[in-house]
Amino acid sequence: MPDPNSSGAATPRVRFAPSPTGFLHVGSARTFIFNWLYARHNHGTMVLRLDDTDIERNTETSVQSIFEGLRWLGLDWDEEVKQSERLDLHRQAAAAIFAKGLAYRDFTPAHASDDEHSSSQGAWLFNPGMRELSREESGRRADAGEPFALRYRVPRGGGRILRFVDGVYGEQQKLADEVEDFALLRSDGMPTYHLASCVDDADLRISHIIRGQDHLTNTFKHLLIFEGLGAPTPQFAHLPLLMAPDGAKLSKRKHGPVVSVTTYRDAGFLPQAFINFLCLLGWSPKNDREFLSLDEIRDLFTLDGVNRANAVVNFTNDDPFDAKAVWLNAEHIRALPVDELSDNLRPFFEQAGFHPSPEKVLAVAPLIRERIKLLRDAVSAADFFFLDQLAPYDAAELIPQKGDAALARRVLETAQQVLAVTPFDHDSLDKALREAAASLGLKAGPMFQPIRVAVCGRKNAPPLFETMVVLGRDVCLDRIRQAEEGLRSLG
Ligand code: GLU
Repeated sequence: MPDPNSSGAATPRVRFAPSPTGFLHVGSARTFIFNWLYARHNHGTMVLRLDDTDIERNTETSVQSIFEGLRWLGLDWDEEVKQSERLDLHRQAAAAIFAKGLAYRDFTPAHASDDEHSSSQGAWLFNPGMRELSREESGRRADAGEPFALRYRVPRGGGRILRFVDGVYGEQQKLADEVEDFALLRSDGMPTYHLASCVDDADLRISHIIRGQDHLTNTFKHLLIFEGLGAPTPQFAHLPLLMAPDGAKLSKRKHGPVVSVTTYRDAGFLPQAFINFLCLLGWSPKNDREFLSLDEIRDLFTLDGVNRANAVVNFTNDDPFDAKAVWLNAEHIRALPVDELSDNLRPFFEQAGFHPSPEKVLAVAPLIRERIKLLRDAVSAADFFFLDQLAPYDAAELIPQKGDAALARRVLETAQQVLAVTPFDHDSLDKALREAAASLGLKAGPMFQPIRVAVCGRKNAPPLFETMVVLGRDVCLDRIRQAEEGLRSLG
């Protein structure tokens, strides 16, 4: 049996429809990503629709920050429209619905400015006085210039049940009597979200509407509008909401910058890691793996893998990022080809005031990749590669565990002699310094620790010989000399 909700489109057409009233919210980013995945998995078309008809709340800054967030994600779209450029189409559609007798003018001043967000519950379901106004009187008052909202004439009293099958939440139904006579046009002539959205979805031949679960109940109104337009009803799939650990819906007003996509970017998440993380919020891949590349996610993505339960993003005041997001980011950093990792690291170094050459970043990147979880961690993990002068450190760190300052000095003196004459490549350094250790009667550990601290300024540092090669002979010798001097004060 054909699906009654099917539009019969051969390949899907989906849309992401942000309202530019703030930055790109992580929940919106996830809606965008799921639409993109659905389109790309099914060789369909992805439309970006800016829902910018709310002139009081829209800002150009917000439009820019949404695009900035989307560009960072790196996912493409095929078509782009702005609702504000389509107002004529919306008004014509409203007129057509009115002409069919499926809408009426509401001159009630208190309701005339109602937008789609108001009076969805409670006593007022429709305004009998206005609904029953004769065509003549309605026309006469409109001609006289009295402002009115245009409301959908929702079928009453016949026991009509509105139904659709949601791609995630399954069979949905509601008695039409429980749906208020919602506005299509506001009294200022602007279309409401419900009207503009459905008219555009119909005109753009959107086959699948994939959006947040907070729009699930709006869908009953949308069914009526599609019917009024004489347009096929698209398929609907609503996505579970993203919740904060406090149990509230994740919101910028309550939870601040943690809900903005650019916060993740600025902290040094890779877009593919962020996408991987967002996908796991509300979708379970059939193979039960968590670390997934974008190609793998696209190949695996189906709507029946989307869960109904809301997903929690974990964060605290001290730690704004979910531990799983951070873990995934570390995994993606490790999986990245080194030239791409370098390209991603460079802006973080620049921002910290370091300006290493691309070659140097390329050399440093593989040495620190295992040691960082966020790209910004690279600054503290690698600063000693770029500093002319190491930050002061405690000279006691130079002393190996079972040794004293005199031993550390002997190690550093020997190291200087050896390094002055050894070719500066990994294998030669390895061999020469091990031989030097043996000549001092030391194991590798007590030999290497003073050298490591001397050249890096810390115990915890990347592999020693590779690090020394990148730093070069002069820098290493200079730092070891300074370290030795520092030890003099300890006796
Ligand atoms: N502009 C609406 C929003 O941001 C779009 C909702 C929809 O996808 O229909 O919530």
